Amino acid sequence: DATVQRIAAGEVVERPASVVKELVENSIDADASRVSVAVERGGKDGIRVRDDGVGMSAEELDLAVRDHHTSKIGDIADLEAGVGTLGFRGEALAAVGAVSRLTMRSKPRDGEMGHELTVEGGDIGDSSPAGCPAGTVVEVDDLFYNVPARRKFLKTDATEFDHVNTVVTQYALANPGVAVSLEHDGREVFATDGNGGRSPPSSRTQSGGTGNLRSTVLSVYGREVAESMVDVEWSADDVSAETPIRSVRGLVSHPETTRAGREYLSTFVNDRYVTASTLREAVLDAYGGQLAPDRYPFAVLFVELDPATVDVNVHPRKLEVRFDDESGVKEAVSEAVKEALLAEGL
Ligand code: ADP
Ligand code: MG
Repeated sequence: DATVQRIAAGEVVERPASVVKELVENSIDADASRVSVAVERGGKDGIRVRDDGVGMSAEELDLAVRDHHTSKIGDIADLEAGVGTLGFRGEALAAVGAVSRLTMRSKPRDGEMGHELTVEGGDIGDSSPAGCPAGTVVEVDDLFYNVPARRKFLKTDATEFDHVNTVVTQYALANPGVAVSLEHDGREVFATDGNGGRSPPSSRTQSGGTGNLRSTVLSVYGREVAESMVDVEWSADDVSAETPIRSVRGLVSHPETTRAGREYLSTFVNDRYVTASTLREAVLDAYGGQLAPDRYPFAVLFVELDPATVDVNVHPRKLEVRFDDESGVKEAVSEAVKEALLAEGL
């Protein structure tokens, strides 16, 4: 029933940024080459995610908003096998629809006609034909309008937007081959060009250096940060000691190119964005005493390791991972970053 649905939805949907995360993941899963995110008042009033992905037919649109419907069975197997998947067992759109006014418009790439469907506080409407380009647009208005306690818990527009920005930035960095843009209250915040190639970041960095990653960093963090970034290029093959990690690649900032307040740390394990206190500590440790108090470096790091040695906390809202060998991972990642800084004489 509706109350149970709303309570369950709260598990997936905590704030505007969690909605944005689910929608952007769906777009990337749908093979989009362009994903445009626009939010109003930190996402509290409106969220719109538009993609040029595979799209959905009228039947698929209707199924998409039903609880536990997913077209991604393979990903669930992935999730159980090791580091995660995008999406979460078909719960996201149903959960978002239960606590907002949700409108979806979609047209399959090879389809003739588009369709539109709305869900209001869990009530699923009938789909109707609508003119739209190939791909999908999802609009989420008035998040938590029917759950006042949650609505009240949301922070200021600026804080909610910070969370949205962090999420969209992660996906932009993780997918240099996708043109990702972000707009807040009608102003463009950043846009990547998607020219970083279609291959996963780790294989691309292996063959082509971190040039593409640097251009994506330039788009999201600006020129000053991008130019100060130092290449991290570390492989287990180059060290004699046993290590739980296969490789660490990416970019970290000059110890003086830091920012106060929030952290600009993006870590990916086997190409999936994750958070892990071990990785965070490893990076901060590598800078040793070089960081001013309350200043944080920028880092974008892709860590490769045996998926069987990573535990994913399969809570839908979190991407927190743990490693079988926490201290071994920390040591190796820290070493990789130190080596990169040393090579630049920093
Ligand atoms: P999940 O991603 O775990 O499958 P969701 O509730 O996020 O669950 O989405 C349900 C289904 O809706 C997806 O499996 C997919 O088939 C479809 N879908 C959602 N968003 C899109 C999109 N942007 N483009 C194409 N299909 C989509
Ligand atoms: Mg999903």
